[in-house]
Amino acid sequence: MIVTKFGGSSLADSTQFKKVKNIIRSNRARRVVVVSAPGKRFSDDNKITDLLYTLGSHLKYGVPDDKIWASIVARYKEIKETLNLKIDIEAELEEFSKTFSKDINQDCLVSRGEYFCARLMASYLGYAFVDAAEVIRFSYDGKLDVAESEKRVRAAFDKYGSIVIPGFYGAYPNGDINLLARGGSDVTGSYLSKFLSATIYENWTDVSGIRAADPKLAKNPKAIERITYEELRELSYMGASVLHEDSILPVQEAGIAINLRNTNEPANPGTIIAKEAGAGAPITGLAGKKGFLSCVIHKKHMSSEVGFFRKVLSIFEKYNINIEHTPTGMDMFGVIVSEEQAAKHIHTIMSEIESSLGADVTMVRDIALIAVVGRNMAGHHGICAAIFKILYEQNINVKMIAQSPDELNIIVGISADRYADAISSLYDGLCAENLL
Ligand code: ASP
Repeated sequence: MIVTKFGGSSLADSTQFKKVKNIIRSNRARRVVVVSAPGKRFSDDNKITDLLYTLGSHLKYGVPDDKIWASIVARYKEIKETLNLKIDIEAELEEFSKTFSKDINQDCLVSRGEYFCARLMASYLGYAFVDAAEVIRFSYDGKLDVAESEKRVRAAFDKYGSIVIPGFYGAYPNGDINLLARGGSDVTGSYLSKFLSATIYENWTDVSGIRAADPKLAKNPKAIERITYEELRELSYMGASVLHEDSILPVQEAGIAINLRNTNEPANPGTIIAKEAGAGAPITGLAGKKGFLSCVIHKKHMSSEVGFFRKVLSIFEKYNINIEHTPTGMDMFGVIVSEEQAAKHIHTIMSEIESSLGADVTMVRDIALIAVVGRNMAGHHGICAAIFKILYEQNINVKMIAQSPDELNIIVGISADRYADAISSLYDGLCAENLL
């Protein structure tokens, strides 16, 4: 049995719904279908989820909302009418709109994007509709109740055999809706694959698999045919927007491969993400992100002061800030963190380190991190040399270097204003050296 998940652009309108049906019909093993909310039909269009978030704010602050709701209703009606579906989606939408008030549960409101989409898709495919609120259950601390969800998902699948389920949400024990993070339908699909021991988890989007670099920055980057879970986690953590980061672990634990496919080009085999990906070039891909800052802590003789590092890091921990890297010198070390995460507290943290630990603290903003990732890099000499030569030839200064102990990645920190040049020149240069 195959679990399939379709992203928003694969469900944007009736034309996309037809493509989904063809895909489902072409392989009888595709019996579990997870859907996102309808996404953009063209580049300036709105995603239903974004419209629902906007509608939620309008309701909360009492700003008139008729146009937004009407545009949402029109999207679902177009799908129903063009596909001649029997389901009375208008009545369901109308019924739901009666719950609109200042105090509407925002999670419930936003989750309706997926809910109504799944109602239509179930009717179109002739599969049973299973509400995620009934089967994906969270405990009150917001963590997925894995045992309970598994039991419920299995029972629903055993009962119906072929199901459509909305992604992106579930419910607390009292039935209140809880949303996952944005893009969370990927995570729903991953858990369903695990709970139902799928042979494969197909994730259908609008790109034919993963590219070896961001196609907006590198010229025509090649598609990756196979990649390991670990490589993908490194690349997506560093900004490659492929799958939701949290969607990899559940299938990885269960040893189920993910196949990324393109709804608009179903003949393309896409990318397989699995435990083993075999031999190949040393480098699999590169990715990066702007928006980091380095907090530099200076203190004479700090390298002989046992516990100093821990004391500094515990101040970041107190403010719930994730630490990315800590490049170290004799009398100083840097703490690299996300600017966005640190924005609220960074000045408090700096002054606390100065006053409580007797250190001087400075800050370097606008750092970009680039990760070069490859399962076949370990033990292969010359990769760092090639990376630095390319950056040197572009006059790009390296501010920080890190390599994971298993040699799965090499990370360089550079000034954010050279980020685009760095990605495109690294992609071209590493390909020219046959390293990628
Ligand atoms: N519709 C939600 C979003 O736009 C969830 C998803 O598509 O996975 O983030």
